[in-house]
Amino acid sequence: MTRKSRVHAVVGGGVMGVATAWELARRGEAVVVYEATGVADGASGGFGYRGVRANGRDLRELPLMARAYEIWPELADALGSRTGYDRIGHLRLYEAPHEEPSSAHRARVQASMGIPSQHLGRAQLLEMEPGLGPTVRGAVHCPMDGVADHGATTQAYARAAQGAGAEVRVGRAVTGLISHGGRVKELELEGGDRVPVSGELLLLANSATATLVERALGRELPVWAVLPQVLWTSAEDETPPFTSLLGHAHRRISLKLIPDGRIMISGGWRGTWDRSGAPTSIPDHVKANWDEAVRVLPSVVRRTLEGAQVDRPESVSVDGIPVIDRLPEASNVIVATGWSGHGWAIAPAVAELLAAWVTSGNRPGLLGPFCLGRFA
Ligand SMILES: Cc1cc2nc3c(=O)[nH]c(=O)nc-3n(C[C@H](O)[C@H](O)[C@H](O)COP(=O)(O)OP(=O)(O)OC[C@H]3O[C@@H](n4cnc5c(N)ncnc54)[C@H](O)[C@@H]3O)c2cc1C
Repeated sequence: MTRKSRVHAVVGGGVMGVATAWELARRGEAVVVYEATGVADGASGGFGYRGVRANGRDLRELPLMARAYEIWPELADALGSRTGYDRIGHLRLYEAPHEEPSSAHRARVQASMGIPSQHLGRAQLLEMEPGLGPTVRGAVHCPMDGVADHGATTQAYARAAQGAGAEVRVGRAVTGLISHGGRVKELELEGGDRVPVSGELLLLANSATATLVERALGRELPVWAVLPQVLWTSAEDETPPFTSLLGHAHRRISLKLIPDGRIMISGGWRGTWDRSGAPTSIPDHVKANWDEAVRVLPSVVRRTLEGAQVDRPESVSVDGIPVIDRLPEASNVIVATGWSGHGWAIAPAVAELLAAWVTSGNRPGLLGPFCLGRFA
């Protein structure tokens, strides 16, 4: 890294941290990422693929998704590495009759906000996905939604950030923020060493951000940690039972067909922490997630449940959308956390906007809905 008058610090080497570092470095800014363990060791890694989905999102996030739609198809070329991005479309299924009008309205509103969306009845839906169960009545279809390989993409961002001049330091957690005169001037690292922060400090450590902020600056963010559950099935030698990314209007279910033929089942069921603090799955939640998968896609029952994972903590916020803002307690600190289970898809857009904020000094308008002031 060349000698620059200010060096920005990013805490967290998940997708948000390394993507923001890349965006800053390619704008000529000096930046160091501090990651406690390894790149993509948190929510940005783990089994399977992540949904790149606008369908069913909180409407306040749709402008970010519209921008993310533009970035995702070009990202592999820009980073010089595979992202596994595939625009396979998303179906938000419904079964209850009362979900028909709400789905039709959602399709219209999403389309008016730049997210191509169409309401499909059962006949049209079965032409697309003949393997769906008998209770499924229709869906909202977003053809521009898709999936990406989250581990590969996060590693690609980290390599590209380093290639553009960013430094990525792994293996030591940031344990404290040292402030003087209303700015954070130093970070304390595991083991007690301190490192200077001469530029902006971006706290992008997912759920750990809230802990750091509360301990060091005394502000309680309305954000906490959960352990999303992921199951996966055996691969079977059969015609792929579905091709789109599948979600549901009221069931906590998300189904993805992995390129190796296994099915990833997730959608909002959670694990917990045992007495020693280790993540552990809850048998009832595993069963409920599996049963819901079988309900919407009956052929799942012919497969074997091969694995369950709940060891990737994610931050959720009290109103289900992220908190992205400067902190009044320290003028050089920006936090971005509270992704609420859907931060992956918007990460390229958020990173671009955070870098624009740092370099211009002005908060981009698209980040306005995520300000702390909404809780005042
Ligand atoms: C199972 C699962 C499925 C998901 N599915 C989807 C999906 O389909 N679509 C979607 O859009 N989103 C999805 N998400 C959400 C998405 O993956 C996350 O919102 C996103 O990856 C968050 O990125 P991040 O960089 O903020 O956090 P992380 O990837 O968790 O990175 C934070 C990093 O900070 C590091 N860290 C923590 N504390 C410290 C410290 N004190 N000092 C230094 N470093 C520290 C951690 O080690 C970690 O590497 C899913 C999440 C999970 C867990």
